[in-house]
This record gives sequence, structure tokens and C-alpha cells, in this order.
Amino acid sequence: MSDDMGLVFKALRYSAEKHNDQRRKDSRSSPYINHPIQVADTLWQVGGVRDAAVLAAAILHDTIEDTDATPAEIEREFGRDVLGLVMEVTDDRSLPQPVRKQLQIEHATGLSTRAKWIKLADKLCNISDLIKFPPDDWSLQKKQEYLLWTEKVVQGLRGANKALEERYDKALKEGKLKMGVSKTGR
Ligand code: NDP
Ligand code: ZN
Repeated sequence: MSDDMGLVFKALRYSAEKHNDQRRKDSRSSPYINHPIQVADTLWQVGGVRDAAVLAAAILHDTIEDTDATPAEIEREFGRDVLGLVMEVTDDRSLPQPVRKQLQIEHATGLSTRAKWIKLADKLCNISDLIKFPPDDWSLQKKQEYLLWTEKVVQGLRGANKALEERYDKALKEGKLKMGVSKTGR
């Protein structure tokens, strides 16, 4: 128990330092760290996840993609299990954005169950943010496309965690209503 808490607190401290100068895209420019905390809390509160490595990886999930964190550093600080989970949910930044988005759709089914939980909570948090605090500069079309893209990714994550999936479906429905989307992205 105390080892689990230690791992999670260490991840919070590391991630907060790495994301220190970053902001989310919402109109309030929220501190970036709010998002990984929200993802981990969603796993705990909604998904019932009690696996400390998964919670730590959720807190770290955007560090390799968006900061100077390296796989070697994450492995040294948090071990191979956590690194493996973070790598599973990390895009290859050397690829163009549309390719990365397409690969997320294609790779979703092949992720481990634990990585699927993180991905599902991440998409749930992002569409919740999109509904409540959308980026100022996103057109309605951009928001609609984003919702439909997450739906395609989540299609490959289904069956991993019922509670997260149901909460995602609820948020998607709300988002579609708000953004006037009638068709499905499947
Ligand atoms: P993305 O679709 O890649 O951005 C979404 C990602 O931003 C999310 O997956 C999330 O990723 C992160 N994010 C940060 N803040 C928020 C928030 N408040 N709500 C939801 N997600 C958030 O879009 P990009 O801005 O990178 O642009 C991609 C393409 O879309 C570009 O080609 C660009 O030209 C185009 N574009 C079009 C616009 C339009 O209005 N038509 C506006 C902006 C971009 P994570 O969890 O990993 O942080
Ligand atoms: Zn994220």
C-alpha cells in the first residue's frame, strides 16, 4: 500500500515538473498537469482501477510525447512495467499528425488491457474537456471531427472496462448533441 502511494506521488511530482511550462488548449489555458491528474482520478473513481503501475502510467502518459522525458529516464525512475504502459499510449512524434491519428485507431485493439484503460480514460477526459472547456480556436467542424475520431479509437478499446466505456458513451452522446453530430464515426 505505502509502496503504491509512493509510486503515485513520485509520478505526480515528476509529471508536474516535466509539464511545468505547458498549458492545455482550453480558453482558461489550464495547467497541463490538471489533465494527467484527471485521467488517473477517472481510472480510480470511475474505472475502479487499483493497479498502482497503471495509475502512475496515467499520470505520466503524455510526458514522453510532450516533454523532454525519455524512455530511459522513466524506466530508471519508475521501472519497466510503468515504462511499457507509457510507451503503449505514446504516439511516434516523428510521424505527421494525420498518420498518428490513424495509427491510434489501428493500434487500439492490440493494446494490453491495462493500456486500454488509460487510453479510454484519456479519451473520456478529452471529450469531457471539449464539452466543458473547448479550445477557443477550434471551429465547430474541428470539434465534431475530434469527437468522431475518439469514437473510432474507442471502438478498439471496448470490452476492457465497462464503467469507463459507459461513462465515455454518455459523454460522447452529450458532445454529439451539443455539437450537432448525428452520424456515428464507425
Ligand atoms: P488535435 O486533434 O491533435 O488536438 C487534440 C488533442 O489536444 C487532444 O487529443 C488532447 O491530447 C489535447 N488537448 C489539449 N487541450 C484540450 C482540450 N481542452 N480539449 C480536448 N483536447 C485537448 O488537434 P491539434 O490542435 O493538434 O490540431 C490537429 C489538426 O487540426 C491540425 O492539422 C490543425 O491544422 C487542425 N486544426 C483545425 C482547427 C479548426 O478550427 N478547423 C483548429 C485547430 C487545429 P492529449 O490528451 O494528448 O494532451
Ligand atoms: Zn492525454
